[in-house]
Amino acid sequence: MEKQMTLRSGAVIHAISRKDADSKNYLTRQTLSELHLMPSGEPVAFEVSENGSLIYYFHPERVTEAPVEMWYSPTSRKESYTLESGTVIERMSVKRAAACNYYTEERLKKMNYEVVEEPVAFTYKADRSILFFYDKKTAKRLPLMCVRCGEFVRFNKKLCEKCYEREMAIRRAEGDRIRSAQYNMEREKVLFFDLELTGFYDHDEILSITIIDGNGDMVMDTLVKPEHTKKWTRTEKIHGITPAMVEDAPLLTDLIPRIKEIFEGAKNIIAYGVSTDFSHIKYIYDNEEDREILHSKIRCCANEYVRYIHEHRPELEHASLIDAMECFGIEWEGVPHSSIADTFACRKVWNVLFPNYYRD
Ligand SMILES: [Zn+2]
Repeated sequence: MEKQMTLRSGAVIHAISRKDADSKNYLTRQTLSELHLMPSGEPVAFEVSENGSLIYYFHPERVTEAPVEMWYSPTSRKESYTLESGTVIERMSVKRAAACNYYTEERLKKMNYEVVEEPVAFTYKADRSILFFYDKKTAKRLPLMCVRCGEFVRFNKKLCEKCYEREMAIRRAEGDRIRSAQYNMEREKVLFFDLELTGFYDHDEILSITIIDGNGDMVMDTLVKPEHTKKWTRTEKIHGITPAMVEDAPLLTDLIPRIKEIFEGAKNIIAYGVSTDFSHIKYIYDNEEDREILHSKIRCCANEYVRYIHEHRPELEHASLIDAMECFGIEWEGVPHSSIADTFACRKVWNVLFPNYYRD
């Protein structure tokens, strides 16, 4: 016979004799229900009766008054049923049972619970056969099974370890195929760019622009004087660009013709985390059509890195440019968070991810 059991919460309780339980004033469900009480905590001990059914004992200080619907019977005539263990249970409607968190075995099974305790109430089916209710609180939660094979316990993404590994291998092979493909790009037509901004929102302004090409040659690297913003203390701490530094820098409007020219000659324009960069650089064009053309050339190095780590290094959680550099063991040139260092770093990460990107 089992001497101890682990509850769903992880608490371990021990088998106890009725005599010992009485001496400690422990209460069974039946006694509690006769007193119109219900347990407020988990069982503190259990007994396996002669017929093998499980009876839980509850601590007398961890009880609460039962809600009226639990003990109120609309008819004066109470219907009860005596279980083999001698425990008397009461008839209850399905609705009232559900309000008490009591369910049929079938219903609990659907919720992935296994019944261990004896029934706590009952009702009659239409054919007068008996239907027992069990307390969900003391039912055992079963492990969730793999949604693919249904054979093994879930490991990750609702799949068992085997199915998960198989799924990962397929995705990895697909990702590797894309990354190692030959793209035949001309180095001069691939651009990497990064912006530093006065803030994190759409209305914030550009403070610096760096654009390099696939050779690692500088195409543009300039500070930009914002037209409306005078101070940016929060982002200044990140990129180190002060208002004094941009005092004599060109305005974005002065740079637009040159940037357009650079972008027009490019086939791919790559940035690390393009959404912020694109939402600012798109304003060099004043119509949606041109913005769409630019958008179609843009590739996100961060997205590709995230895909890579999902496939190869699922234990990695963070995907900033600094994380990517560390993951691939690439050295920084210059200070991270300056647009120039970030642009060179982005190019290096891209080169690792897409080793056959260029024609030569
Ligand atoms: Zn499976």
